[in-house]
Amino acid sequence: MNIHEHQAKALLKEYGAPVAAGVAIFSVDEAEAAARSLPGPLYVVKSQIHAGGRGKGKFKELGPDAKGGVRLAKSIEEVVAHAKEMLGNTLVTAQTGEAGKQVNRLYVEDGADIARELYCSLLVDRSVGQVAFVVSTEGGMDIEAVAHDTPEKIVTVAINPEAGVTDADVAKIVAALKLDGVAAEDAKSLFPILYKAFSDTDMALLEVNPLIVMENGHLRVLDAKVSFDGNALFRHDNIKALRDESEEDSKEIEASKWDLAYVALDGNIGCMVNGAGLAMATMDIIKLYGKEPANFCDVGGGAGKDKVAAAFKIITADPKVEGILVNIFGGIMKCDVIAEGVVAAVQEVGLKVPLVVRLEGTNVELGKKILNESGLAITAADDLDDAAKKIVAAING
Ligand code: GDP
Ligand code: MG
Repeated sequence: MNIHEHQAKALLKEYGAPVAAGVAIFSVDEAEAAARSLPGPLYVVKSQIHAGGRGKGKFKELGPDAKGGVRLAKSIEEVVAHAKEMLGNTLVTAQTGEAGKQVNRLYVEDGADIARELYCSLLVDRSVGQVAFVVSTEGGMDIEAVAHDTPEKIVTVAINPEAGVTDADVAKIVAALKLDGVAAEDAKSLFPILYKAFSDTDMALLEVNPLIVMENGHLRVLDAKVSFDGNALFRHDNIKALRDESEEDSKEIEASKWDLAYVALDGNIGCMVNGAGLAMATMDIIKLYGKEPANFCDVGGGAGKDKVAAAFKIITADPKVEGILVNIFGGIMKCDVIAEGVVAAVQEVGLKVPLVVRLEGTNVELGKKILNESGLAITAADDLDDAAKKIVAAING
Protein backbone atom coordinates (compact mmCIF):
# COMPACT_ATOMS: atom_id res chain seq x y z
CA MET A 1 0.00 0.00 0.00
CA ASN A 2 1.30 3.43 -0.96
CA ILE A 3 0.74 6.73 0.83
CA HIS A 4 1.16 10.37 -0.10
CA GLU A 5 4.36 12.33 0.41
CA HIS A 6 2.86 14.55 3.12
CA GLN A 7 1.67 11.48 5.05
CA ALA A 8 5.10 9.87 4.75
CA LYS A 9 6.75 13.04 6.01
CA ALA A 10 4.36 13.28 8.97
CA LEU A 11 5.20 9.69 9.86
CA LEU A 12 8.96 10.26 9.57
CA LYS A 13 8.62 13.43 11.64
CA GLU A 14 7.06 11.40 14.47
CA TYR A 15 10.24 9.35 14.49
CA GLY A 16 12.31 12.52 14.66
CA ALA A 17 13.44 12.91 11.04
CA PRO A 18 14.08 16.47 9.83
CA VAL A 19 11.30 17.55 7.46
CA ALA A 20 10.02 21.00 6.52
CA ALA A 21 6.83 22.48 7.94
CA GLY A 22 3.94 22.03 5.54
CA VAL A 23 0.18 21.77 5.13
CA ALA A 24 -1.83 19.43 2.89
CA ILE A 25 -4.69 21.23 1.14
CA PHE A 26 -7.62 20.39 -1.14
CA SER A 27 -8.77 23.84 -2.31
CA VAL A 28 -7.39 27.21 -3.41
CA ASP A 29 -8.71 28.89 -0.24
CA GLU A 30 -6.88 26.40 1.87
CA ALA A 31 -3.70 27.09 -0.14
CA GLU A 32 -3.71 30.72 0.89
CA ALA A 33 -4.25 29.89 4.58
CA ALA A 34 -1.53 27.24 4.39
CA ALA A 35 0.99 29.67 2.90
CA ARG A 36 0.14 32.27 5.56
CA SER A 37 0.92 29.75 8.29
CA LEU A 38 4.43 29.16 6.90
CA PRO A 39 7.42 31.45 7.46
CA GLY A 40 8.33 32.06 3.79
CA PRO A 41 9.90 33.71 1.84
CA LEU A 42 10.27 30.52 -0.22
CA TYR A 43 7.37 28.05 -0.58
CA VAL A 44 6.98 24.81 -2.48
CA VAL A 45 3.66 23.65 -3.92
CA LYS A 46 3.72 19.89 -4.44
CA SER A 47 1.17 17.69 -6.21
CA GLN A 48 0.15 14.77 -4.01
CA ILE A 49 -0.29 11.71 -6.22
CA HIS A 50 0.99 8.19 -5.75
CA ALA A 51 3.68 8.51 -8.41
CA GLY A 52 7.17 9.94 -8.62
CA GLY A 53 8.69 12.21 -11.24
CA ARG A 54 6.25 15.01 -10.38
CA GLY A 55 8.82 17.78 -10.76
CA LYS A 56 9.42 16.86 -14.39
CA GLY A 57 5.78 15.94 -14.99
CA LYS A 58 3.42 17.90 -17.23
CA PHE A 59 -0.21 18.83 -16.70
CA LYS A 60 -2.34 17.55 -19.57
CA GLU A 61 -4.64 20.55 -19.58
CA LEU A 62 -1.91 23.21 -19.41
CA GLY A 63 0.24 22.65 -22.49
CA PRO A 64 3.96 21.87 -22.80
CA ASP A 65 5.27 25.23 -21.54
CA ALA A 66 3.50 25.19 -18.19
CA LYS A 67 5.45 24.35 -15.04
CA GLY A 68 5.48 20.81 -13.59
CA GLY A 69 3.91 19.17 -10.57
CA VAL A 70 6.39 20.54 -7.99
CA ARG A 71 6.70 24.32 -8.04
CA LEU A 72 8.63 26.92 -6.09
CA ALA A 73 6.83 30.13 -5.10
CA LYS A 74 8.28 33.34 -3.70
CA SER A 75 5.07 34.85 -2.33
CA ILE A 76 1.67 33.86 -0.97
CA GLU A 77 0.07 35.16 -4.19
CA GLU A 78 2.30 32.87 -6.21
CA VAL A 79 1.33 29.87 -4.05
CA VAL A 80 -2.33 30.65 -4.71
CA ALA A 81 -1.74 31.05 -8.45
CA HIS A 82 0.00 27.66 -8.60
CA ALA A 83 -2.77 26.01 -6.59
CA LYS A 84 -5.38 27.41 -9.00
CA GLU A 85 -3.49 26.01 -11.97
CA MET A 86 -2.71 22.62 -10.47
CA LEU A 87 -5.78 21.50 -8.49
CA GLY A 88 -8.15 19.33 -10.49
CA ASN A 89 -5.80 18.95 -13.44
CA THR A 90 -4.11 15.78 -14.64
CA LEU A 91 -0.41 15.30 -14.05
CA VAL A 92 1.47 12.98 -16.38
CA THR A 93 4.86 11.77 -15.13
CA ALA A 94 7.29 9.03 -16.13
CA GLN A 95 5.53 6.83 -13.56
CA THR A 96 1.83 7.55 -14.12
CA GLY A 97 1.50 6.19 -17.65
CA GLU A 98 -0.10 8.28 -20.40
CA ALA A 99 -3.43 8.63 -18.63
CA GLY A 100 -1.80 10.59 -15.80
CA LYS A 101 -3.33 11.20 -12.38
CA GLN A 102 -5.73 13.88 -11.26
CA VAL A 103 -4.23 16.17 -8.63
CA ASN A 104 -6.81 16.55 -5.87
CA ARG A 105 -4.52 17.56 -3.07
CA LEU A 106 -1.41 19.69 -2.78
CA TYR A 107 1.25 19.94 -0.13
CA VAL A 108 2.33 23.51 0.57
CA GLU A 109 5.71 23.41 2.20
CA ASP A 110 8.30 25.74 3.63
CA GLY A 111 11.01 25.98 0.95
CA ALA A 112 14.60 24.96 1.60
CA ASP A 113 17.85 26.42 0.24
CA ILE A 114 19.58 23.45 -1.26
CA ALA A 115 23.35 22.94 -1.35
CA ARG A 116 23.36 19.29 -2.47
CA GLU A 117 20.73 16.75 -3.55
CA LEU A 118 21.45 13.17 -2.46
CA TYR A 119 19.64 9.87 -2.89
CA CYS A 120 18.70 7.53 -0.04
CA SER A 121 16.35 4.61 0.02
CA LEU A 122 15.65 1.67 2.27
CA LEU A 123 14.37 -1.60 0.90
CA VAL A 124 14.38 -5.31 1.57
CA ASP A 125 17.46 -6.67 -0.20
CA ARG A 126 16.46 -10.24 -0.98
CA SER A 127 19.95 -11.21 -2.14
CA VAL A 128 21.23 -10.86 1.45
CA GLY A 129 17.93 -11.23 3.29
CA GLN A 130 18.36 -7.90 5.05
CA VAL A 131 16.99 -4.40 4.94
CA ALA A 132 19.49 -2.24 3.09
CA PHE A 133 20.22 1.42 2.53
CA VAL A 134 20.82 2.34 -1.09
CA VAL A 135 22.51 5.71 -1.33
CA SER A 136 24.09 7.95 -3.93
CA THR A 137 25.57 11.42 -4.17
CA GLU A 138 23.58 11.80 -7.39
CA GLY A 139 20.15 12.58 -5.92
CA GLY A 140 17.38 14.62 -7.44
CA MET A 141 15.21 13.74 -10.32
CA ASP A 142 17.28 11.33 -12.43
CA ILE A 143 18.18 8.38 -10.22
CA GLU A 144 17.02 5.92 -12.89
CA ALA A 145 19.58 7.38 -15.31
CA VAL A 146 22.30 7.17 -12.63
CA ALA A 147 21.49 3.51 -12.02
CA HIS A 148 21.66 2.85 -15.74
CA ASP A 149 24.69 4.90 -16.78
CA THR A 150 26.91 5.04 -13.66
CA PRO A 151 25.87 2.21 -11.33
CA GLU A 152 29.17 2.57 -9.42
CA LYS A 153 27.76 5.80 -7.96
CA ILE A 154 25.12 3.82 -6.09
CA VAL A 155 26.22 2.23 -2.81
CA THR A 156 24.32 -0.42 -0.86
CA VAL A 157 24.73 -0.86 2.91
CA ALA A 158 22.85 -3.85 4.30
CA ILE A 159 21.81 -3.75 7.97
CA ASN A 160 22.15 -6.72 10.29
CA PRO A 161 18.68 -7.04 11.87
CA GLU A 162 20.08 -8.03 15.27
CA ALA A 163 22.55 -5.16 15.53
CA GLY A 164 20.43 -2.48 13.83
CA VAL A 165 22.20 0.52 12.28
CA THR A 166 25.68 0.54 13.80
CA ASP A 167 28.22 3.39 13.90
CA ALA A 168 30.14 1.50 11.22
CA ASP A 169 27.05 1.43 8.99
CA VAL A 170 26.54 5.16 9.43
CA ALA A 171 30.22 5.76 8.64
CA LYS A 172 29.85 3.81 5.39
CA ILE A 173 26.81 5.83 4.38
CA VAL A 174 28.49 9.11 5.36
CA ALA A 175 31.51 8.22 3.24
CA ALA A 176 29.37 7.17 0.29
CA LEU A 177 27.40 10.43 0.44
CA LYS A 178 30.58 12.51 1.07
CA LEU A 179 29.04 14.16 4.14
CA ASP A 180 31.05 16.26 6.57
CA GLY A 181 30.58 18.81 9.36
CA VAL A 182 27.03 19.19 10.70
CA ALA A 183 25.64 16.96 7.95
CA ALA A 184 27.84 14.08 9.18
CA GLU A 185 26.59 14.79 12.73
CA ASP A 186 22.95 14.79 11.54
CA ALA A 187 23.61 11.49 9.80
CA LYS A 188 24.25 9.76 13.14
CA SER A 189 20.63 10.25 14.13
CA LEU A 190 18.91 10.37 10.74
CA PHE A 191 19.85 6.95 9.33
CA PRO A 192 18.92 5.00 12.49
CA ILE A 193 15.62 6.96 12.55
CA LEU A 194 14.83 6.00 8.96
CA TYR A 195 15.67 2.37 9.71
CA LYS A 196 13.46 2.35 12.81
CA ALA A 197 10.53 3.90 10.96
CA PHE A 198 10.96 1.35 8.18
CA SER A 199 11.10 -1.67 10.51
CA ASP A 200 8.44 -0.56 13.01
CA THR A 201 5.82 0.07 10.35
CA ASP A 202 6.68 -2.83 8.01
CA MET A 203 7.57 -0.69 5.04
CA ALA A 204 8.48 -2.35 1.78
CA LEU A 205 10.15 0.78 0.44
CA LEU A 206 11.22 4.14 1.81
CA GLU A 207 12.72 6.42 -0.79
CA VAL A 208 14.07 9.85 0.06
CA ASN A 209 15.00 11.51 -3.21
CA PRO A 210 16.34 13.99 -2.67
CA LEU A 211 17.80 13.90 0.78
CA ILE A 212 19.32 17.37 0.87
CA VAL A 213 22.20 19.13 2.47
CA MET A 214 20.89 22.64 3.08
CA GLU A 215 22.90 25.84 2.73
CA ASN A 216 23.22 25.82 6.54
CA GLY A 217 24.84 22.38 6.36
CA HIS A 218 21.99 20.36 7.88
CA LEU A 219 20.30 17.34 6.34
CA ARG A 220 16.58 17.37 5.45
CA VAL A 221 14.17 14.85 3.98
CA LEU A 222 12.91 16.81 0.96
CA ASP A 223 10.84 14.10 -0.71
CA ALA A 224 9.52 10.85 0.72
CA LYS A 225 7.94 7.92 -1.03
CA VAL A 226 6.72 5.09 1.16
CA SER A 227 5.03 1.82 0.46
CA PHE A 228 4.03 -0.70 3.08
CA ASP A 229 3.97 -4.47 3.00
CA GLY A 230 0.28 -5.24 2.46
CA ASN A 231 0.62 -8.54 4.32
CA ALA A 232 1.55 -6.69 7.53
CA LEU A 233 -1.15 -4.02 7.40
CA PHE A 234 -3.35 -5.97 9.79
CA ARG A 235 -1.10 -4.88 12.63
CA HIS A 236 -1.05 -1.18 11.73
CA ASP A 237 -4.55 0.29 11.90
CA ASN A 238 -3.14 3.82 11.95
CA ILE A 239 -1.41 3.18 8.63
CA LYS A 240 -4.42 1.49 7.05
CA ALA A 241 -6.30 4.71 7.75
CA LEU A 242 -3.90 6.59 5.43
CA ARG A 243 -5.14 4.66 2.41
CA ASP A 244 -6.35 6.89 -0.45
CA GLU A 245 -8.62 4.70 -2.57
CA SER A 246 -8.88 7.39 -5.26
CA GLU A 247 -5.22 6.62 -6.06
CA GLU A 248 -5.81 2.92 -6.54
CA ASP A 249 -7.18 0.89 -9.41
CA SER A 250 -10.94 0.53 -8.77
CA LYS A 251 -10.80 -3.05 -10.06
CA GLU A 252 -8.11 -3.91 -7.50
CA ILE A 253 -10.17 -2.36 -4.69
CA GLU A 254 -13.22 -4.41 -5.68
CA ALA A 255 -11.03 -7.52 -5.95
CA SER A 256 -9.58 -6.98 -2.48
CA LYS A 257 -13.14 -6.91 -1.06
CA TRP A 258 -13.59 -10.42 -2.45
CA ASP A 259 -10.15 -11.51 -1.30
CA LEU A 260 -9.11 -12.16 -4.89
CA ALA A 261 -5.44 -11.98 -5.86
CA TYR A 262 -5.88 -9.51 -8.72
CA VAL A 263 -3.37 -7.18 -10.36
CA ALA A 264 -4.37 -4.96 -13.26
CA LEU A 265 -1.93 -5.08 -16.20
CA ASP A 266 -1.67 -3.31 -19.56
CA GLY A 267 -2.62 -6.02 -22.07
CA ASN A 268 -6.00 -7.03 -23.48
CA ILE A 269 -6.58 -10.67 -22.59
CA GLY A 270 -8.46 -11.00 -19.31
CA CYS A 271 -7.42 -14.06 -17.29
CA MET A 272 -9.25 -16.00 -14.61
CA VAL A 273 -7.17 -18.78 -13.14
CA ASN A 274 -6.89 -20.77 -9.92
CA GLY A 275 -3.47 -20.90 -8.31
CA ALA A 276 -0.70 -18.32 -8.59
CA GLY A 277 1.64 -20.67 -10.45
CA LEU A 278 -0.99 -21.52 -13.03
CA ALA A 279 -1.82 -17.83 -13.36
CA MET A 280 1.84 -17.04 -14.07
CA ALA A 281 2.02 -19.87 -16.60
CA THR A 282 -1.15 -18.59 -18.26
CA MET A 283 0.31 -15.10 -18.59
CA ASP A 284 3.54 -16.57 -19.99
CA ILE A 285 1.80 -18.60 -22.64
CA ILE A 286 -0.37 -15.64 -23.71
CA LYS A 287 2.85 -13.71 -24.27
CA LEU A 288 4.35 -16.69 -26.11
CA TYR A 289 1.53 -16.41 -28.63
CA GLY A 290 2.13 -12.70 -29.07
CA LYS A 291 -0.45 -11.06 -26.83
CA GLU A 292 -0.38 -9.45 -23.39
CA PRO A 293 -2.51 -10.29 -20.32
CA ALA A 294 -4.89 -7.59 -19.02
CA ASN A 295 -4.58 -8.85 -15.48
CA PHE A 296 -3.23 -11.41 -13.08
CA CYS A 297 -6.19 -13.06 -11.34
CA ASP A 298 -6.00 -16.00 -8.97
CA VAL A 299 -9.43 -16.93 -7.61
CA GLY A 300 -7.74 -19.27 -5.14
CA GLY A 301 -8.38 -22.84 -4.16
CA GLY A 302 -11.68 -22.72 -2.30
CA ALA A 303 -13.64 -20.07 -4.20
CA GLY A 304 -17.42 -20.40 -4.33
CA LYS A 305 -19.75 -19.46 -7.15
CA ASP A 306 -20.18 -15.85 -5.94
CA LYS A 307 -16.45 -15.21 -5.77
CA VAL A 308 -15.95 -16.64 -9.26
CA ALA A 309 -18.77 -14.45 -10.55
CA ALA A 310 -17.24 -11.38 -8.85
CA ALA A 311 -13.87 -12.11 -10.47
CA PHE A 312 -15.48 -12.54 -13.86
CA LYS A 313 -17.35 -9.24 -13.49
CA ILE A 314 -14.18 -7.37 -12.52
CA ILE A 315 -12.42 -8.76 -15.60
CA THR A 316 -15.27 -7.90 -18.00
CA ALA A 317 -15.60 -4.38 -16.54
CA ASP A 318 -12.09 -3.56 -17.80
CA PRO A 319 -12.56 -1.69 -21.11
CA LYS A 320 -9.15 -2.90 -22.33
CA VAL A 321 -10.25 -6.54 -22.29
CA GLU A 322 -10.83 -7.85 -25.82
CA GLY A 323 -11.04 -11.51 -24.87
CA ILE A 324 -11.16 -13.68 -21.76
CA LEU A 325 -9.31 -16.87 -20.94
CA VAL A 326 -10.57 -18.97 -18.05
CA ASN A 327 -8.00 -21.59 -17.11
CA ILE A 328 -8.91 -23.85 -14.22
CA PHE A 329 -7.29 -26.95 -12.88
CA GLY A 330 -9.77 -28.34 -10.39
CA GLY A 331 -8.04 -29.87 -7.41
CA ILE A 332 -9.76 -28.56 -4.31
CA MET A 333 -11.64 -26.23 -6.66
CA LYS A 334 -14.41 -28.00 -8.51
CA CYS A 335 -14.91 -27.36 -12.23
CA ASP A 336 -18.70 -27.24 -11.90
CA VAL A 337 -18.44 -24.41 -9.34
CA ILE A 338 -16.30 -22.43 -11.78
CA ALA A 339 -18.75 -23.12 -14.60
CA GLU A 340 -21.71 -21.99 -12.48
CA GLY A 341 -19.90 -18.80 -11.47
CA VAL A 342 -19.01 -17.95 -15.07
CA VAL A 343 -22.55 -18.62 -16.29
CA ALA A 344 -24.08 -16.56 -13.46
CA ALA A 345 -21.77 -13.63 -14.16
CA VAL A 346 -22.39 -13.71 -17.91
CA GLN A 347 -26.14 -13.84 -17.38
CA GLU A 348 -25.88 -10.76 -15.21
CA VAL A 349 -23.42 -8.57 -17.13
CA GLY A 350 -23.48 -10.08 -20.63
CA LEU A 351 -20.53 -11.13 -22.73
CA LYS A 352 -19.27 -8.78 -25.42
CA VAL A 353 -15.88 -10.40 -26.06
CA PRO A 354 -14.74 -13.93 -26.97
CA LEU A 355 -14.46 -16.34 -24.05
CA VAL A 356 -12.24 -19.41 -24.06
CA VAL A 357 -12.53 -21.86 -21.17
CA ARG A 358 -10.15 -24.63 -20.31
CA LEU A 359 -11.29 -26.89 -17.51
CA GLU A 360 -9.46 -29.89 -16.11
CA GLY A 361 -9.69 -31.89 -12.91
CA THR A 362 -12.41 -32.50 -10.33
CA ASN A 363 -15.93 -32.64 -11.81
CA VAL A 364 -14.66 -31.61 -15.24
CA GLU A 365 -17.44 -33.41 -17.11
CA LEU A 366 -20.12 -31.72 -15.04
CA GLY A 367 -18.43 -28.35 -15.53
CA LYS A 368 -18.33 -28.80 -19.30
CA LYS A 369 -21.96 -29.87 -19.32
CA ILE A 370 -23.02 -26.71 -17.44
CA LEU A 371 -21.14 -24.54 -19.93
CA ASN A 372 -22.52 -26.42 -22.95
CA GLU A 373 -26.10 -26.26 -21.74
CA SER A 374 -25.87 -22.56 -20.84
CA GLY A 375 -26.28 -21.57 -24.48
CA LEU A 376 -23.46 -19.04 -24.09
CA ALA A 377 -20.90 -18.52 -26.86
CA ILE A 378 -18.02 -20.21 -25.10
CA THR A 379 -15.06 -21.81 -26.88
CA ALA A 380 -13.87 -24.91 -25.09
CA ALA A 381 -10.15 -25.71 -25.03
CA ASP A 382 -8.38 -28.99 -24.30
CA ASP A 383 -5.19 -27.81 -22.65
CA LEU A 384 -3.25 -24.67 -21.82
CA ASP A 385 -1.54 -24.44 -25.19
CA ASP A 386 -4.79 -24.93 -27.09
CA ALA A 387 -6.52 -22.36 -24.86
CA ALA A 388 -3.90 -19.67 -25.44
CA LYS A 389 -3.90 -20.26 -29.20
CA LYS A 390 -7.69 -20.08 -29.33
CA ILE A 391 -8.05 -16.83 -27.38
CA VAL A 392 -5.28 -15.12 -29.38
CA ALA A 393 -6.89 -16.30 -32.64
CA ALA A 394 -10.30 -15.07 -31.48
CA ILE A 395 -8.92 -11.60 -30.75
CA ASN A 396 -6.99 -11.43 -34.00
CA GLY A 397 -10.28 -12.15 -35.75
P1 GDP B 1 9.50 14.40 -7.58
O1 GDP B 1 9.86 15.11 -8.84
O2 GDP B 1 8.16 13.77 -7.64
O3 GDP B 1 10.56 13.43 -7.16
O4 GDP B 1 9.38 15.54 -6.42
P2 GDP B 1 10.47 16.12 -5.39
O5 GDP B 1 9.80 16.33 -4.10
O6 GDP B 1 11.69 15.28 -5.36
O7 GDP B 1 10.79 17.54 -5.99
C1 GDP B 1 11.41 17.68 -7.25
C2 GDP B 1 12.52 18.72 -7.20
O8 GDP B 1 11.99 19.98 -6.80
C3 GDP B 1 13.61 18.42 -6.19
O9 GDP B 1 14.57 17.54 -6.69
C4 GDP B 1 14.17 19.81 -5.96
O10 GDP B 1 15.14 20.11 -6.95
C5 GDP B 1 12.97 20.73 -6.15
N1 GDP B 1 12.48 21.13 -4.83
C6 GDP B 1 11.58 20.51 -4.04
N2 GDP B 1 11.45 21.13 -2.85
C7 GDP B 1 12.32 22.17 -2.88
C8 GDP B 1 12.68 23.20 -1.92
O11 GDP B 1 12.20 23.26 -0.79
N3 GDP B 1 13.60 24.12 -2.32
C9 GDP B 1 14.19 24.07 -3.57
N4 GDP B 1 15.09 25.00 -3.86
N5 GDP B 1 13.88 23.12 -4.47
C10 GDP B 1 12.97 22.19 -4.13
MG1 MG C 1 11.73 13.19 -5.65
